[in-house]
Amino acid sequence: MADEVRNVIIIGSGPAGYTAGLYTARALLEPLMFAGYMSGGQLMLTSDVENFPGYPEGIGGPEMMIQLREQAEKFGLEVEDKNVEKVDFSERPFKVWVEGKIFQSNSVIICTGAESIWLGADGEKEQKGRGISTCATCDGAFFKDEEVLVIGGGDSAMEEATFLTRFASKVTIVHRRNVFKASKVMYERAANHPKIEIRTFNSIKSWLSDENGLTGAILEDSRNGKTEQISCTGAFIAIGHKPITQFLGGQIDVDDTGYILAKEHTMTNVSGVFAAGDVVDTRYRQAITAAGMGCQAAMDAEKWLEDQD
Ligand code: NDP
Repeated sequence: MADEVRNVIIIGSGPAGYTAGLYTARALLEPLMFAGYMSGGQLMLTSDVENFPGYPEGIGGPEMMIQLREQAEKFGLEVEDKNVEKVDFSERPFKVWVEGKIFQSNSVIICTGAESIWLGADGEKEQKGRGISTCATCDGAFFKDEEVLVIGGGDSAMEEATFLTRFASKVTIVHRRNVFKASKVMYERAANHPKIEIRTFNSIKSWLSDENGLTGAILEDSRNGKTEQISCTGAFIAIGHKPITQFLGGQIDVDDTGYILAKEHTMTNVSGVFAAGDVVDTRYRQAITAAGMGCQAAMDAEKWLEDQD
């Protein structure tokens, strides 16, 4: 166990984590961040961010995360690109396990965000990474001049579909309803693209494949139960995310879908443990709102630490 007791440990490294890092570093709390093996969070898998104020030309998600990290490090945030395996919040100082070592801290800010949900249709497990993906930015370029599907009706699906038109000859968006959660601007950009077709009231019944990978899917129309075969060599599932809270071992109160419940501003049910960003946010889930919450959590933690003295 590390002898040193930190003021604050930040777990996770998206816009919420880095902003919490920036603010706690500037408050001279000498924060330590465990950024995860894949630091930067969901924005590392995003192409252009066009709705973060201050970037009139837009900015690449990964580039933005590098800049947020640099800014926080400049003021003294210490970052380790490691995952937290488990925590013990039963007494203070809190304990955080990382690669077998135990770190201690008087306060903790959880900013672990969320991870992609898979459909779970027949044949999906076998084709993960062999044609079925949850990240167009990562895998889109493998499908040059090929036909691909995108599943979902939110901003992620629209963004992935529009991005995939750079490579694919045709992109079909398959959505289970005819109402879209996506913002109007992103929906229209996709709907008006000549390479994109949108199939509403359809879901994936099963995936089809041969020895080379994915070959298509069986679609089912929810209005009449009719099924139809569609060809594709790639498919991108964009049906939302689930919060990353399993490592908390039930010590922090979450709602029935796993999102952390804030009890007092950004503080959780455990006094001294705060949470910010997509791991708490069932409603907004934007880079800018996550960053704002990271700031709030940092200020709440600073105030709380002061009150303990
Ligand atoms: P959303 O929750 O907004 O949308 C998920 C979509 O997947 C919905 O259309 C939903 O259908 C569909 N879906 C969910 N479960 C299933 C299932 N089992 N089978 C078939 N379809 C399913 O998630 P997103 O990831 O798209 O977006 C999350 C947040 O991130 C949003 O706030 C969004 O604005 C933001 N975001 C912003 C971006 C940007 O501004 N650049 C880019 C990407 C995301 P139904 O509508 O029927 O529920």
